[in-house]
Amino acid sequence: MRSAELIFIPTPLVSHLVSILEFARRLIDQDDRIRITILLMKLQGQAPLDPYARSFASSLPCVQLIDVPELEEEPGLVTQSVEAHMYAVIEKNIPLVRNIIMDILSSRPSDGIQVKGLVLDFFCLPMIGIASEVSLPPYVFLSANAGFLTLMQYLPERNRKDTSVFERNSEEWLPIQGFANPVPLKVLPSGLFWQDGYDVSVKLGELFAKAEGVLVNTSIDIEPSPMNHFLHDPGYPSVYAIGPILDLKAHPHPDLDLVRRAEVIEWLDRQPEASVVFLCFGSLGRLSSPLVKEIAQGLEKCGHRFLWSFRTQQPTNGDPDSLLPEGFLDSVSGRGMICGWAPQVEILAHKAIGGFVSHCGWTSILESLWFGVPIVTWPMYAEQQLNAFMMVKELGLAVELRLDYRVRSGEIVMANELETAIRCLMEKSNVVREKVKEISALARKAVMNGGSSSVAIEKFIQDVVGSRS
Ligand code: UDP
Repeated sequence: MRSAELIFIPTPLVSHLVSILEFARRLIDQDDRIRITILLMKLQGQAPLDPYARSFASSLPCVQLIDVPELEEEPGLVTQSVEAHMYAVIEKNIPLVRNIIMDILSSRPSDGIQVKGLVLDFFCLPMIGIASEVSLPPYVFLSANAGFLTLMQYLPERNRKDTSVFERNSEEWLPIQGFANPVPLKVLPSGLFWQDGYDVSVKLGELFAKAEGVLVNTSIDIEPSPMNHFLHDPGYPSVYAIGPILDLKAHPHPDLDLVRRAEVIEWLDRQPEASVVFLCFGSLGRLSSPLVKEIAQGLEKCGHRFLWSFRTQQPTNGDPDSLLPEGFLDSVSGRGMICGWAPQVEILAHKAIGGFVSHCGWTSILESLWFGVPIVTWPMYAEQQLNAFMMVKELGLAVELRLDYRVRSGEIVMANELETAIRCLMEKSNVVREKVKEISALARKAVMNGGSSSVAIEKFIQDVVGSRS
């Protein structure tokens, strides 16, 4: 009987949810003592994720979903940064989550099940106090990377010397341990340039240090420098590199148009190997019309085949194509394809794909590394600028378009910049392409039996559940 229970508290955002559910699957596959209960919070104004989580979870044996009741009143959007808003929403959910955990604990162990630990998504760190109230060890699941964790370790340290918010236009560099190079301020997550985002990020950094351990969706081969740093820092919680944790079966997302999906795959089937550039800017990536125009021109000029996941900020009256420059679709007819929400994993897995223009969300990066597809970096929001810096400067695993672009800045990336980056990306002899292939092989090895990430999951299980008697 599966009698060791872990309670997971994910953030209900698609990329966070997918990786934490997939991690639940790995744990259950790897150890027949484990069962998992997932507490599902709701965020107002987000796409309906529940059916998605439900269909995913129903495919997992021994996973139970419990709905956290919706907040009667969500904190208004009065914060400057997304981070501060999320922090406020999570804090408001604390009493609701505490009640559910208390209920679970009071029904155990009469049914023979023992709750062994809490696994919190990193945005849910404000809930870490519940763990000590109920005497459970708290672990953090980080769907971002180990480089981001070194920043989280650095922030409280820096704040003890200097409490001022970071300057957006500063040319300064930060000596963050775990990065081989000094980190330019310009690539820090956007929230750190706002007072409230800076304050909650420092608090999150402090809370990370209170966890029993941090599970990071990365592997030692992908991020050797930050992982070695944590390995030699006994004062910090254990850091487990358990990735890449990816939903390779890619459960259909509610925004996916299944008819279009079939057309896209059929079209890719007809293209030569490694000939198509894929452009996609993440779950929130919507482009302004001036950017759409530049991208369209860049694609026209570069001459390569392309597949563009195209969503815009403008209301389109149901026809987003109306925002494309006149004549564009005709001029690229036969070599270009446009879709809305893309079946990204299936696309990256397709042999026709030769490169990826990406917003550098960490999950997208892991997916492209997994399938050996090199990236052009076009960060947009969250910690994507830091990811782009890491991929280009630290790891040599991507072609630089931009490292410090921010979607809210309104800045325009010009067609010729995109054209140059795509041409460089698609060169057959590009060294980045070779390196990405090597990392792809290592990443796949890491999650196999006996690989470093699989061993790290085993170590986590031993630490939280204990050895088999
Ligand atoms: N995704 C997708 N189709 C899209 C946009 C995104 O399948 O059109 C998926 C993508 O494969 C990844 C996730 O959504 O699994 C995005 O996660 P990431 O961390 O890259 O970025 P975020 O959306 O959190 O900014």
